[in-house]
Amino acid sequence: MADNNFIDYVKIYVRSGKGGAGSAHLKREKYRPKAGPDGGDGGKGGSVIVKGNKQFWTLLHLKYQKHIFAEDGVAGMRDMWHGSDGKDVIIEVPLGTVARDGETGEFLFEITTDGEEQILAKGGRGGLGNVHFKSATNQTPRFAQPGEECEEGWKILELKVLADIGLVGFPNAGKSTLLSSISAARPKIADYPFTTLVPHLGMVSVDNKHSFVMADIPGIIEGASEGKGLGLRFLRHIERNPLLLFLVPADSDDVARDYQILLDELGKYNPELLDKHRILAVSKCDLADEEIKADIEKKLPKDVPHFFFSSYSKEGIKQLVYGIWELLEKEQPQELPQEKVAPRVIDAKEYYESFGKNFENETTRPNFEEK
Ligand code: GDP
Ligand code: MG
Repeated sequence: MADNNFIDYVKIYVRSGKGGAGSAHLKREKYRPKAGPDGGDGGKGGSVIVKGNKQFWTLLHLKYQKHIFAEDGVAGMRDMWHGSDGKDVIIEVPLGTVARDGETGEFLFEITTDGEEQILAKGGRGGLGNVHFKSATNQTPRFAQPGEECEEGWKILELKVLADIGLVGFPNAGKSTLLSSISAARPKIADYPFTTLVPHLGMVSVDNKHSFVMADIPGIIEGASEGKGLGLRFLRHIERNPLLLFLVPADSDDVARDYQILLDELGKYNPELLDKHRILAVSKCDLADEEIKADIEKKLPKDVPHFFFSSYSKEGIKQLVYGIWELLEKEQPQELPQEKVAPRVIDAKEYYESFGKNFENETTRPNFEEK
C-alpha cells in the first residue's frame, strides 16, 4: 500500500558541460598576410546545480529522469569571437535534501533554505584563445588553450523531511488518524500494520498565527522478524525533529512498558534520538473510562510530559496541540551540525543480529537495497 507519490531517494547520473576550446586562428587579410592572432576564448560549460524550493515535498520529479546533462561551452572563433557559455541545469529539490556521491556515499552538501544553490557537477572553464598568448617573442602563437573537461558521475539525492515533531508509535497506535484530524494532511488509515509506508507531513495550526509541521513516520516494532523494522528506513526523517511525540493507545496492556520498548528501539537505531524532547500521548482514550485512565496515569514515567486524547471524540486534542507548541517554542530554532544529518548506512545483518536473529534465515527484510 505504499504511496508512490512520495519519493525520498533517487540516484542520478549527472554531467556538466565541457569548456569550449579557445581558437588558434590567425588573422589573414589580403594586404596584411600576418595580421596576428585573433582566436577568441571558448565559453564555459554549464553546471548541474541543485536548488532548494520550499514548494517541493518529494523527489518524485527526478524518479524517471536518471541522466541530467548540462550544455557544453561553444568553442571560440576568429575575430576574437567568444564562444557562448553552456546553459546550467537547475535541479529543484525540497528543503532537507542531502546530496551524496553515488559511488562512495560521501556526504556532499545539504539544501536547507529556499533558493539555496549548490553545484553537483561544475562546468569546465572555457579555453583561452591565442590572442592571450601573443608576446614579444611570439607574435603569431599557433596554439590556444583547450576547454576544461566536464565532471560526471552518479550522485544520490536523499530527502530528510524537515518536520518539527515526529510521531513515534507501533502500527495502529492512531498516528495517521491523529495527523489527519489536526492537520490538512490526509494519510491513509486502515487497521492493519504498515499502512503508513511513507512519512506524511501535516501542517498543524495552533492558532491564527502559529503552526508546526508534524510527520507521521511508519511504525516501528519491537524486533526485526516478520518484516518488522520496515520503519527503519524512514527513521532518518525524524533524526532532526527537535521533538518526538510517542503514541501509545489506551487499550494497550501496559502503556508504560510500550513506551519503554519504543524508546529502546529508537536508541538501538541511533542513541542521539534519545536526546530529543519527548511527549507521551495516550491515544484512543475514548476506549478507557476515568478509572482506567487514572490507573494508566499512575504508572506513567515521571520524566516525560503526558497527555490523554482521542481523535474520535476529540477529547484532549486541543491540550495536546498547545502542549506541543509550548515545547517547540522553547526549543526552536536549532542549529543542526551538517555531519549529524548525513544518513547512516544501516547494516541489515548487524541489525538482525542485534536481536539475536540470523539474517540468512529471515525471509522478509527491511528495504535496505537503496542504502
Ligand atoms: P497508525 O498505524 O498509528 O497510523 O494508526 P491509524 O491512525 O491507522 O489507526 C489504527 C486504528 O485505530 C484504525 O482502525 C483507527 O480507526 C483506530 N483509531 C484511531 N484513532 C482512534 C481513536 O481516537 N479512538 C478509537 N477508538 N480508535 C481509533
Ligand atoms: Mg499510520
